[in-house]
Amino acid sequence: MTTIGFIGLGIMGGPMARHLVAAGHEVTGFNRSPEKTRPLVDAGGRAAGSVAEAVDGADVVALMLPDSPDVEAVLDGEDGVFATAKPGTLVIDFSTIRPDVARDLAERAAARGLRMIDAPVSGGQAGAENATLSIMVGGKADDVGAARPLLDAVGRTVVHVGPIGSGQTVKAANQLIVAGNIALLAEALVFLQAHGADLPAAVEVLGGGLAGSAVLTQKAQKMLDADYTPGFRIDLHHKDMGIVADAARAAGVVTPVGALVAQLVAATRAAGDGGSDHSALHRTIAGLSGEATGRP
Ligand code: NAD
Repeated sequence: MTTIGFIGLGIMGGPMARHLVAAGHEVTGFNRSPEKTRPLVDAGGRAAGSVAEAVDGADVVALMLPDSPDVEAVLDGEDGVFATAKPGTLVIDFSTIRPDVARDLAERAAARGLRMIDAPVSGGQAGAENATLSIMVGGKADDVGAARPLLDAVGRTVVHVGPIGSGQTVKAANQLIVAGNIALLAEALVFLQAHGADLPAAVEVLGGGLAGSAVLTQKAQKMLDADYTPGFRIDLHHKDMGIVADAARAAGVVTPVGALVAQLVAATRAAGDGGSDHSALHRTIAGLSGEATGRP
């Protein structure tokens, strides 16, 4: 049994923390909006009123926060994890943040006698709820080994992809592929609809061939129903396309298709869909062909 402080109990962190309780660990959760600790308490965990309280006595601190500045503030802010965790504590950052920020924070953690790995996830809300996430892990082999039982409790495909920051690099590639997939699925549905095709039949047969994908399986029906309840918010995918663009530039490579899709994600956000699921890219793409699917 491990004592875990879990910070960030949103769409992903909430169910992940509960799976850790179910696996027999002692989990104390903290979230900025305190009502989100309720399901954790109902599942047998504890609620903390601050980061320091969640970290108190923990062997492992897990984070599932929106963006790089959030992770930096919780780790290195006043009364944050770096200031309050006991030496040797292992920090597992499940959030999707910039790879360079992950490396920098791990150095600062090491300077305070703490250990840190980056472990961003893929698989969406369903993956978090069913503990079937793909987890791309960056860090030292010993630290990844120590985290392994906890990673296995929330994920199904857990792969150590390299040193600290590598998990975030692989996750950026993941987000590039997912955004492109969603954009092309949306275009295909608009195209099929314009031809008066039998859409459920078309989706079924497309799903069985090379066009089939997890994106098609999880998102096609949402698009057909214009149900853009998150899921994964456009705001977060916008953040991730920025990470892709910066990391590609840093490596001296180009992502031209990704750049176009990033603009469509940004347009979706600018039109008021930042809080909608990333399947709302469909609404923007339908609008380009003059089809209105209704704005929130
Ligand atoms: P979310 O907004 O639902 O959850 C984030 C939680 O963090 C919120 O409950 C918020 O109140 C809390 N929070 C923010 N700042 C805080 C702070 N300073 N202290 C304490 N709590 C704070 O977001 P999410 O969808 O769970 O995503 C979390 C991370 O996981 C993001 O980096 C996202 O890119 C990534 N991710 C999300 C999905 C998905 O499908 N939703 C999939 C894979 C990865």
